[in-house]
Amino acid sequence: MPRHLVENAPRIIALANQKGGVAKTTTTINLAAGLVELGAKVLVIDLDPQGNASTGLGIEVSGRTLTTYDLMVGELPLDAVIQETTTKGILICPANSDLSSADMELVSNEKRSFLLHDALRQPDMALLDIDFILIDCPPSLSLLTINALVACHSVLIPLQSEFFALEGLSQLMLTIREVRQTANSDLRIEGVLLTMYDKRNNLSQLVEADARENLGELVFKNIIPRNVRISEAPSYALPVLSYDSGSKGAEAYRALSLEIANRYGLQQKIHEATE
Ligand code: ADP
Ligand code: MG
Repeated sequence: MPRHLVENAPRIIALANQKGGVAKTTTTINLAAGLVELGAKVLVIDLDPQGNASTGLGIEVSGRTLTTYDLMVGELPLDAVIQETTTKGILICPANSDLSSADMELVSNEKRSFLLHDALRQPDMALLDIDFILIDCPPSLSLLTINALVACHSVLIPLQSEFFALEGLSQLMLTIREVRQTANSDLRIEGVLLTMYDKRNNLSQLVEADARENLGELVFKNIIPRNVRISEAPSYALPVLSYDSGSKGAEAYRALSLEIANRYGLQQKIHEATE
């Protein structure tokens, strides 16, 4: 497989929404798996002190001796902190509760919003051959999330298909605008993803119509349905794409991965390589 499938790799995408339980972590894990199926190499940055992405990708708490905290606050090199996961092609910088004190500890650090940005631009990044970096943000607009917004090229916003879903969005959009004005002028919105969609439920359809009307092209064409296999997969430390490859959930995340990969020419490169 030729390396550098994606131009200007790595593309850095932050998955953010200050609301908890909207499928940030689920989407991080399964988008990573979908991109890997398409031939990419993906690094997941677990930026949530709860460490759910680390658990879901098979990194036990006892195996998290060095974490995103050490990468950011300790300024350790990438290769010291990243680990392989249960899925070949997905690497992770794991997290544990150490990260929860970062906000307070960094108050007086001048570079505090740029720590992740700088960490992901270390010279040894080139050696890792990463195509995509996915940053799984905590459920807040704290300094950690600001670090992700400063470090990334674009933000993917998962939106749970339920009442009030759009309400929290204005605050996030405001924060994105502020980061654009101060630290990351090229910051783009990768897209808004409707998650846990139940097509038998009127409410899901209303939220979708509302989102498409207000956000237009920003909303991904593909939607993630509510699917029990998606919620079972993390307890087997696997993405749903390998836990139940034929499930509706796996198919939906595959389609989303393709939608995103196409934007970066990933498919075309794979096609050329196999000709
Ligand atoms: P967040 O990271 O935004 O807090 P999670 O990804 O942890 O959200 O998801 C919250 C819960 O919802 C988890 O238990 C997860 O397994 C479940 N979940 C996420 N997406 C789906 C889905 N499409 N269908 C069913 N359950 C889902
Ligand atoms: Mg999470």
